[in-house]
Formats: sequence, C-alpha cells, structure tokens
Amino acid sequence: RRLLENGANTSFVNRIADTSLPLDELVQDPVQTVEQMALREGTLGLPHPSIATPPDLYGVARRNSKGVDLACDTALQALHVELLRSAHTEWQAQPLLAGAEAKAEWAESAQPVLNPADLRDPVGRVQETTLAGVEWAMQAATEAAPAWAATAPAQRAQALEQAADLMEQQLGVLMGLLVREAGKTCANAVAEVREAVDFLRYYAAQARRDLADLPHRPLGPVVCISPWNFPLAIFTGQVAAALAAGNPVLAKPAEQTPLLAAQAVRLLRQAGVPDAVLQLLPGRGETVGATLVADERVQGVMFTGSTEVARLLQRQLAGRLSPSGRTIPLIAETGGQNAMIVDSSALVEQVVADVLASAFDSAGQRCSALRVLCVQEEAADRVLQMLTGAMAELRLGRPDQLHTDVGPVIDAEARAGLLRHIDALRAQGRRVQQPLGRGGLDDTRHGHFVPPTVIELNSLSELQREVFGPVLHVLRYRREALPELLDQINATGYGLTLGLHTRIDETIERVVAGAHAGNVYVNRNMVGAVVGVQPFGGEGLSGTGPKAGGPLYLYRLLAQRPEAALTRSLDEVGAPAQTGHQPEVLPAALQALAEWAERNAQTAVAASCAQWGAQARSGHARLLCGPTGERNVYTLLPREAVLCLADQEGDRLIQLAAVLAVGSQAVWPDKAQALLQRLPDVVQGRIVLCSDWTRPETHFDAVLHHGEPAALRQVALRVAQRPGPIVGITGLLPGDAAIPLERLLVERALSVNTAAAGGNASLMTLA
Ligand code: NAD
Repeated sequence: RRLLENGANTSFVNRIADTSLPLDELVQDPVQTVEQMALREGTLGLPHPSIATPPDLYGVARRNSKGVDLACDTALQALHVELLRSAHTEWQAQPLLAGAEAKAEWAESAQPVLNPADLRDPVGRVQETTLAGVEWAMQAATEAAPAWAATAPAQRAQALEQAADLMEQQLGVLMGLLVREAGKTCANAVAEVREAVDFLRYYAAQARRDLADLPHRPLGPVVCISPWNFPLAIFTGQVAAALAAGNPVLAKPAEQTPLLAAQAVRLLRQAGVPDAVLQLLPGRGETVGATLVADERVQGVMFTGSTEVARLLQRQLAGRLSPSGRTIPLIAETGGQNAMIVDSSALVEQVVADVLASAFDSAGQRCSALRVLCVQEEAADRVLQMLTGAMAELRLGRPDQLHTDVGPVIDAEARAGLLRHIDALRAQGRRVQQPLGRGGLDDTRHGHFVPPTVIELNSLSELQREVFGPVLHVLRYRREALPELLDQINATGYGLTLGLHTRIDETIERVVAGAHAGNVYVNRNMVGAVVGVQPFGGEGLSGTGPKAGGPLYLYRLLAQRPEAALTRSLDEVGAPAQTGHQPEVLPAALQALAEWAERNAQTAVAASCAQWGAQARSGHARLLCGPTGERNVYTLLPREAVLCLADQEGDRLIQLAAVLAVGSQAVWPDKAQALLQRLPDVVQGRIVLCSDWTRPETHFDAVLHHGEPAALRQVALRVAQRPGPIVGITGLLPGDAAIPLERLLVERALSVNTAAAGGNASLMTLA
C-alpha cells in the first residue's frame, strides 16, 4: 500500500508483464525499497491495518501464543540459559492432592524418569499414587465440586488465562522438560508449549462467551487420562476444558511423562485453581487409572490414547449412571490409520516436504501422523526417489541438539514393537528402505531410536493396526481406482486425518466429500492442528468427538448446557463458508413430519419440528480465522444413523423430529412398524426397521433413549458389548423433549493450503 502511495503504479507480481518498465527497476530488491521508505519516513515495516499481527490473529477474545525463533542467535542465547535451568532442576512428580495433610512424603519407592534419548540422563523422579491417595483425592474433589461449579465462568477463565501467561513465561524451562522427558525436538517443544497455552486461552474465552450469564450445570468430578505423546498440550487441553466448564479434575498422566504434568498442575494452581479442584495422580493405567474410572463419584471421563484402552473404559462406564440418571460421558480421542493421497498432478517437491513432516516429525509419534502414502502409479517412482533422497538428509539423534530432525521413540517397548513390525513385513518380501540419516550412531546408542523407514505395501489390508512411530507405508494406485482407494481407507474404520495432494479441483471436491475423516488437509502436511483453527478429533474407531479446540467441546462437559448452544456457538465461530453443498433450509422430511403432526394433533412434535428446523446447523460450514495462505473450514454434518429407543409414541416422534432436523436416518426396532406406516412416505424413507439392534450388522453411530434409568443402564451395557466404534448414548426421561442436537452431528475440519494454488489473492486487493 505504501509503495502504491509512493508512486509505484502496480503491484509487484503484475509488474513482470509491464513492458514499459526498465529492467533495473523490475529487479530492484523489495527489502531495499522498504528500507529506503523507512529512511524517508522514519518507520520500518508499518503493518497493514487489515492484516492481523501474530498476537492478534484470533481477535480480541484470545491472544495467540508466543513462540521463539530458533533461527535467531539472540533468542537462542536466552533459551540456552532457560534450558540449563531446566536441566539443573530436580524434577519431581508426586501425587499433588488437596489439603496439607495429603502432602506426600517423598517415599523411597519413587522411581527415576529417564531421558528416552539417553538413558544415562535421569530427568526426575515419580511417585505412584496409592489407593488411599486415590480415595483421598476423590473425596476432596467431590467436596470441592459445588463451590467450583458456583464460581463465575469469568473467574474460572481468569485462572486459565493466568496459567497460560505463566506457561509462556516458562517456555524455555518447559521446553527443556519436553526435550528430556518426552524426546521432543526443540521445534516440536516450542509448538507443544504454544498448543497448551492456546488451549488454556481458547476454553477460557469460550467459558466467558458461552457460559457466563447462561444457566448451565457442570458434571461434577471429571477424570482426565492422557497419553505421553503430547504430555503438556493434551494434558493441559483436557484439564483446561473440564475446569472451564466448572468441573473438579482428577488428572492421571501417562506413566512415561509425569514430570511435565506435575509442572502444568503447579502452574495452574499458582494461577488460582484451588488444590482440591485440580489434583494430580501419577501412576499406572491398570491401577490408578482403572480405580479412578471405576469410582461411582466420577461424573465424566476424558481420555486420549489407544483405541483398545478406550474400549475398556467404555465397558467400565457403561453400567453406571449419574445421580440424575444420565450416562457418564466418555470423550475418547484415539488412534488412526491415516492416509495421504497423491495424484500425478501434485508438485513432487512439495509432496516430499509435506510427507517428511507428516510421517517422521516427532518420530511419527503423533496420532495425526501419516501412516500410508497412496501415490498414483505414474508418479510413484519419482516421489519415492525424491522422498528417500530427502530422508537421507534427516538427522536422527538427540533432540537437545538443535540440528536434530528426528528424536527417539518413547521407550524400549515401543522400539521393540516397531522393529518387529518392520522385520515382519521385510520377511514377507516387502521392500523396506531406511536411508541412513546423517546423525550417525554416536548420537543414538544410549536411547530408543528407530530410523525413518519406508515400506512398500501391496494392499492396505496388510496393515492391521496403527503403527505408532517413524514408519511410512507406501501404496501405489491406478488413477481410475481412486474411488475404490477412498472406500478402502474409509473401510479401515478409523477416521482421524487424511491428506490430499492434487492440483485438480474436482479431485479435491470428490475426496473431501467422500472422506470419513475428522481432519482433512489439502496440499499441505497433515499434522500440527492448531487450537481453534483446525479443531481436532476423529470419528469411527478414532474417537467419539467432540473435537478438541472446537466450539462444541465444553458442552459435552456439562450436565445441563445453555439452550440454543448449537446455534450460538456455531454462529459465533466464524463467517459462513462457501462449500459445494448447500444445506436445505428446512429438510423436506422434517417439513412433512411437521405437517403430519399438525394434522394429527401432535402439538409437541410439531413444536419440536419448528424449533429444531430453526436450530439445526447440519451442513453448515464456517471459515475459521488463521494465518494467511491457508483456508480453514469447519463443517457440521449429520451422523449416519441414529438408533431411537422409546416406549411411548410421543417420545419416538420427538426423537424422529431431531433426527430429521439434522438430516440423519432413524433406526427403529420393528415393534414400531405400525407407527412408521402411519407416517408420510418421505418420512418413512428416512427410517430403517431392525429386528435386533444388538446384532453387530445393525449400523448406527448415535443412540437416543427415552425411558427410566434402569432401562437406560441396560441399553448402555448392550451398546458397549458391540464391536466397532464407541457410540454415544443420549438418555432422556419419558416426556423430555430437550434433545441436544449436537449429539447427532459430526464435526469436520478442512485445511487447504491456498498458497499451493497461487496464494491468497485477497491480499492484493486490500484497500
Ligand atoms: P495408552 O492407551 O496406552 O495410554 C493412554 C493413557 O491411558 C495412559 O495415561 C495410560 O496410563 C492410561 N491407561 C492405560 N490403561 C488404562 C486402564 N485400564 N484404565 C485407565 N487408564 C488406562 O496410549 P499411549 O500409548 O499413551 O498413547 C498413544 C496412543 O494415543 C496412540 O494410539 C495415539 O494415536 C493416541 N492418541 C490419540 C490422539 C487423538 O487426539 N486422537 C492424540 C494423541 C494420542
């Protein structure tokens, strides 16, 4: 803009076509031009008022987290001091329980926590919580629940924001712990502290906006169980959300990474969260975790980890109801079998850079990491050649060295499992490549290292489970077989992340529309989801939802949420986005049900149709704000099929109104056939009858139940016995019409690298 004001007659990019310009002027260094401007005007690099500076990227409601420039010598010098301070601290993770009497004696039984990159380096010590400690914590959390629930959302938010500031101040110290306890590279460690800070500010802002002054009721004591691979970010994210919603938290960190969790708890307490409202219970999953989840006083469980453990927790919780007779919410975020599809139109150089980041960054120990690279056969040799060449340039080694690209895997067990997998496929005759990195053996012999590995597969079915490490599988596909490939990827049952590299718009549309994945990334890497920008979480075997860092998360942590939560949160999350699919204003089947209800004096049903017709946001897409060069879209879509269980006809019709409002399909037991036959044809077309819903072949991905608590309990137990994904159950008492519509929706996040398709043209037209 300033150049234009100063007489430049056209934008930089377009000048190349201007034949009247002398060559010297055309090749002038733009940096020099701006510096000359600064000499003339006394200011350098005045930002354009319409382009947000990094701290203001997300507007006034929440400040963006601060990072550190690892390419800046001054920043590195300051960081070095902090890292030394971190390394010289005697880190301890004892149970952090409420009350002075509970201050744990530092027992002889405390175990060392070792650096996975160098087992000679003791990072700190951890003491497991005893069963008496669990009981003490449960009691304290239960007693603290009413007061925390009554604390104003703004005050809860303030404590979280204060904790975010403290974490930012301790960036270097926390980085030191992330590097030594979790084996993170320095760049990954910066990103992780930032993510934790973003979570704190995101849920704080949401509590202020969506809960203040609106009637809501928290669940009560919530157990947070987290994995080791994001020991600060996921731990803090779960805890922050539960606290923001007004629940006391009992946090059980992963066995491998208790020190980071303990430090996060100390900072949150320092920021004003009462001791009894946030307690830390380090220990093993099978003992401390299982005891916590089994406790009758626990009113909600947030879990991130493996699909297997999530199933265990579901079964454990299924037999229990809250005092008010609802099921105990389980938010489970689990693993994936994540694929990236690359067609022959893709830019190979960019594909390779994005594959390296997606498959090998964090040594592949991200749930979002790329596991199966699917390349169109014409492009495969070229992609593989360039990819293995680039892999040879990766440095495998100690992450406390700034030049390290790939650090260790978390422990000996993980390493052994990965090596077994590689050996097994090699023994089956698959081509295995491990281009030697430049790190060398000196760096790796004292830790748990697995070199980045590429294995060519013949078929996707050769992979039976998630392989959690730096192992990339490659599959070639024929161009015309793209639809079948997508079907195969969907048929794995997982649905976490999917990548796509193509320059063809129709392919983007087709893949995005057909993918069953929570987060889809186009022409970019598929890791590093940013809070509020790419709300994160999968579907099917990959998780229950709602998405972490998304607008619906807090509501799942409430026993009673504010009315019209769906409209409120979606309408405020961003501007409407243009998508190929335009939602119907009032779905035809809902309209037909409403008219039928009017004719048959079913006034409650007619009222629900009208209310939900106005509230359902199914098919709606919103643009989320983020950095320029990226287009981030958040979409709500109907779940595929909702099992509707009710004894009374009125309840069944209310359920049907909700299902039709979101555009889903109802699954009815065949005893409801008579009612079905009285309904208009277009409505009948949205209902499937089944003789026995407990059979595995009956498909549904949500359950609505109207009935007494005893019946709900039986339904929950039988749903938990079914194989496949964890299915959420919404239980309501007979006559209750307050169905939370969001439970019938899935959330999708799409992130498109617009720079790959010529950049963000809107920048050139800024006034
Ligand atoms: P894990 O399931 O082994 O452990 C996760 C947590 O569960 C740990 O704290 C563990 O102690 C606890 N636990 C284990 N058994 C338990 C039991 N019986 N009762 C209660 N708690 C129990 O997973 P992990 O190895 O720590 O983490 C890696 C997994 O996490 C991968 O599958 C990865 O894909 C997944 N993950 C998913 C996401 C996501 O957002 N979808 C994010 C990160 C990691």
